[in-house]
Amino acid sequence: MTSTTHHQEQPVSNRDVIRVRGARTNNLRDVDVDIPKKQLTVVTGVSGSGKSSLAFDTIAAESQRLLAATYPAFVQNLMPHLPRPDVDTLEGLSASIVVDQAPLGANPRSTVGTATDAWSLLRQLYAGHGTPPVPGPHALSFNAATGMCPACEGTGRTATLDVDLVLDRSLSLNDGAITFPNFTVGSLFWKVYARSGAFDNDKPVQSYTPAELEHLLTGTGPNVDTGTYPMAYEGVLTKITRLYLSKDPAALKPRLREALELAATTGPCPGCAGTRLNSAARACTIDNTPITTCHTMPATDLH
Ligand SMILES: [Zn+2]
Repeated sequence: MTSTTHHQEQPVSNRDVIRVRGARTNNLRDVDVDIPKKQLTVVTGVSGSGKSSLAFDTIAAESQRLLAATYPAFVQNLMPHLPRPDVDTLEGLSASIVVDQAPLGANPRSTVGTATDAWSLLRQLYAGHGTPPVPGPHALSFNAATGMCPACEGTGRTATLDVDLVLDRSLSLNDGAITFPNFTVGSLFWKVYARSGAFDNDKPVQSYTPAELEHLLTGTGPNVDTGTYPMAYEGVLTKITRLYLSKDPAALKPRLREALELAATTGPCPGCAGTRLNSAARACTIDNTPITTCHTMPATDLH
């Protein structure tokens, strides 16, 4: 990043601007810039142009170094040594708060509450004072088997598959009635249905009896000899749900992910109304307020 400001020095107070002169941290080349206070200032530029070197490694670094210098010596000795950034002048600094872009991770179980640990404090409060009592904070956790809603396993959402985007009812098993990837005619999964003896492999699915259709979609049964190795019989919807729908979409091959996006719709879990907790956890209240209500409150009301 090179200097972008070439204006005349103006008599601007340190109360109004952060004045940077001759910044040379990392790849900065004598950058002079005034950053107005009490405004949102965006530093833009191509990757590697020195945005972070200016904002984090120069301005915020010096601000934190100055703040650290106000602590008693024994505290300073416990803190990491902060070198002075390479800059001629830095004026008008105030205390800085660095909010960096470290991701929380793609875990769909993370919430503001879990990420900040506020949720675990709330669980302890309810475990100690809620009625009827629960055996412990874990019984109020949607990440613990004792607290999670069994229907959605604590995610708060359930997905349902559209049968007609998984099957073509006008076709028979031999003609490729199961249209979902990995179930094509001749595949290992297909053989489980075709060799189970439960179906007429030439009969279109639309001519199945209700019992046959139910068995195809959600039935269970003994192992089927697929020719390679025996495989337990499991209905098409059950198998897709277990193998793919319950998995992190990012871990799936694109072809499967696209097919799932078409065939599945997700919504709040009917078992827990999206609250992620089982009925015992939802029944525990303080002041007639269940912990699940706290979950949805603005922080000001919660306080
Ligand atoms: Zn649920």
